[in-house]
Amino acid sequence: MKDYIIKALTKDGTVRAFAAITTDMINKARQIHDTSPVATAALGRTLTAAAMMGSMLKGEQDTLTLQIKGDGPLGGIVAVADSKANVKGYVHQSHVDLPLKPDGKLDVGKAVGKNGYLSIVRDFGLKEPYVGRVPLVSGEIAEDLTFYYARSEQIPSVVALGVLIDVDLSVKAAGGFIVQLMPGADDKTIDILENTLAQIPPVSSMISGGMTAEDMLDKVLNKFEWSRTDTVNTGYNCDCSRERIESALISLGKKELKGIIEEQGKAEVTCHFCNEIYRFNKQELEHLLEAASS
Ligand SMILES: [Zn+2]
Repeated sequence: MKDYIIKALTKDGTVRAFAAITTDMINKARQIHDTSPVATAALGRTLTAAAMMGSMLKGEQDTLTLQIKGDGPLGGIVAVADSKANVKGYVHQSHVDLPLKPDGKLDVGKAVGKNGYLSIVRDFGLKEPYVGRVPLVSGEIAEDLTFYYARSEQIPSVVALGVLIDVDLSVKAAGGFIVQLMPGADDKTIDILENTLAQIPPVSSMISGGMTAEDMLDKVLNKFEWSRTDTVNTGYNCDCSRERIESALISLGKKELKGIIEEQGKAEVTCHFCNEIYRFNKQELEHLLEAASS
């Protein structure tokens, strides 16, 4: 797996940054879900952001769910990441096709739509999950996440995400970066960052041009002294299992399970994240019924 994320901090500690290369991850997502180009771009941007946000989680078992729901034809996007930056996700309608924007770019904003929300759920195991939710700004995802950080977490941030689709519809380049101001950042730091960010090329062209995650941060933080604090691998990995699906079936409760047994005599459950199909015959379902509560 050659996808990875680097984390960086400026010398004075007032700016932190993350940069990711996720080309393989998004190609895998595209293969699993057979996504159209605009769906690949939307899912790819969301998975890339989730990977970086997952890598920020402190506890080993912590997970993060990033959900985007607009009124566009995609119908919604879900991405889940763990603290080791394993990600999985899906779009509701993976075959959406839309005309390109006048500038020739994929119209992710239109595919996602507006009049909706972006939500982040951080699950810390036994403790209460942290839930943040903001209305969508443009449906372009990076902009929506920038707004999310400002509004919901009061962390001034810039999120940039890019997915470049090749002529054969595979993913040619994917990745992104997140830059955040830490407490103590002054106006001068903000001005410098804004000026730099206004001048750098789009993420997808930087990565397709051969830039590494380090090269991207060199561009973003070029006016600062900075150093890399960590490097983590990232990739598309589904952690579903027969045991998990069994627990999900048990949690339906006795009444629901009885209904399935009587009406269908079997069950077939497909994992939304990897399309693995789990089949249960009548005998197996009856076994689960014994474990279910009323
Ligand atoms: Zn799965």
